[in-house]
Amino acid sequence: MRAEIIAVGTELLLGQTVNTNATYLSRGLAEMGIDVYFQTVVGDNMGRIRQAVELARTRADVIVFTGGLGPTQDDLTKDALAAYLNKRIVIHEPSMAKIEALFSARGIHMVESNRRQANIIEGCEPLENDAGLAVGNAITVDGTHYVLLPGPPGEMKPMFDGPAKAWLRAVSGEERKLYSRLLKFAGIGESSLEQELIDLIERQSDPTIAPYAKEGEVAIRISTKALTEQAAAVLLDEAEEQIKKRVGKHMFAREDIPLEEAVIRLLRASGLKLASAESITGGLFAELVTNVPGSSGEFHGGVVTYTNAVKHKLLGIPMSQLEGTGAPGAVSESTAVLMAERIRELTDSDFGVSLTGVAGPSETEGKPVGLVYFAIARRGQPTLVHTAQLGGSRSIIRLRAAKSAFYRLWQILAKNE
Ligand code: AMP
Ligand code: MG
Repeated sequence: MRAEIIAVGTELLLGQTVNTNATYLSRGLAEMGIDVYFQTVVGDNMGRIRQAVELARTRADVIVFTGGLGPTQDDLTKDALAAYLNKRIVIHEPSMAKIEALFSARGIHMVESNRRQANIIEGCEPLENDAGLAVGNAITVDGTHYVLLPGPPGEMKPMFDGPAKAWLRAVSGEERKLYSRLLKFAGIGESSLEQELIDLIERQSDPTIAPYAKEGEVAIRISTKALTEQAAAVLLDEAEEQIKKRVGKHMFAREDIPLEEAVIRLLRASGLKLASAESITGGLFAELVTNVPGSSGEFHGGVVTYTNAVKHKLLGIPMSQLEGTGAPGAVSESTAVLMAERIRELTDSDFGVSLTGVAGPSETEGKPVGLVYFAIARRGQPTLVHTAQLGGSRSIIRLRAAKSAFYRLWQILAKNE
C-alpha cells in the first residue's frame, strides 16, 4: 500500500506552524508497513484541496489528511472531500450530543459553527476524538482509502494511534510491521561508508540499507517488514553481519546513541574516569559528555582554558611554552600533551583529554583554520597526541574536533589499547 499525507492549513504554507503532524504520521505509517511516497501541504482553500486530492488519487492507495476539521469557516477539508467524492455532509449524532453536552456543562453559549465539528461525510466511519470535539472520518471510495484527522497534534495523535490505525489495519490487510535497526559509525565519512557497502546498498531490497550523515557520525538504518519481531531479527542480524564484515571497526553502536555515550558506557564497564582541558572547543567536549545521563560516574570534570594566561594559571603550562619567539605556541602538539597530562593529574583521572586548535574564521599564531591538536593522557601509559586538519565553519570545526577526540577514546577503550 502506498500512502500520501495531505496537511491542510494556510499557517503551514506561511511557515508559521511546523508540519510536525506529517513527521508523526510518516513514522507511524512506516511502522505499520504502509509506504509513504508523498507528503503534500495545501492551504485552506476548496479548489486547491480538491487539486491535491485529485493528484494524490493517481499515486496513492491511502490518503491521510490532517487539519481543517475545526469549527471555523476556513476549516474545509470535509467539505472539499465530500464535494470531490459526490457525497453529502451529514451530522454524526453522537458527536453532536457530545458537543452540546460540553457546552451546556460549561455554561457557554454554543454558536452554529461549533456544530460543524460533528459533520461527517455520508457513509464514512466516524473516528472518535478523545481529546477534542472534531470527529474524524475514514472512508473507502473506488479502492482509495481516505482518513481525515484534526490538525492540533494533541488531537491528531490519539486519533491516529487509536481508531485510525485500527481502521487502516482492517482495510489494508497488511499484517507485517516495519522493524528497523540503527547502526552507528564514526571515524569514517558518509561517502566512504557508502562506497564500502555500495554493492549491498544497490542490490538490497529486503532489508533495505540506508546511510544517514550526522555531524561527526554516520548512521545506517536497516529495515524490513515482517510478521514478528523474531522473523525481522533474523534478516536484520544477517544484514548487520555483512555490514560489520566490511566496516565493523568503525561501528560503535547498534542503537541510536551518540559516540560520547558509547565512550561513557565503555568507561563505566571498566570503572575508568575521564577529565578534559579544552581550548578550541570552549567546553563542548564537556557539554557532550554531560549530556549523557549518569555521566557523573565517569566524568570528573573539565576546564576551559581559552587564553594563554589561563592555560598557565590553571594548568601550570609555562609561558615560555605558549608565547615568544621559538615557543611552540598554544596550538601545538606539545601544548596539547601538557594540557592533557595536567588535567589528568589534577583530577586524578584515568584519562585526560585536551583540545587546542584554530576554529577560525581567521588563523592564529600563523596556523591555519581547522588545525587541531588533541591529546589523551593515560594513567601509567604514554600520552597519545593527534593532529587533524578539519574543514567546515567555526561551529562545525569545533564539533568535529570534539568528536575526533571521542572517536580516539572509543578506539582505545573498545580495543583495550
Ligand atoms: P485545524 O483547526 O484542524 O486546521 O488545526 C488547528 C491547529 O492545529 C493549527 O492552528 C495548528 O496550530 C495545528 N496544526 C494544524 N496542522 C498541523 C500540522 N500539520 N502540524 C502541526 N500542527 C498543526
Ligand atoms: Mg486549520
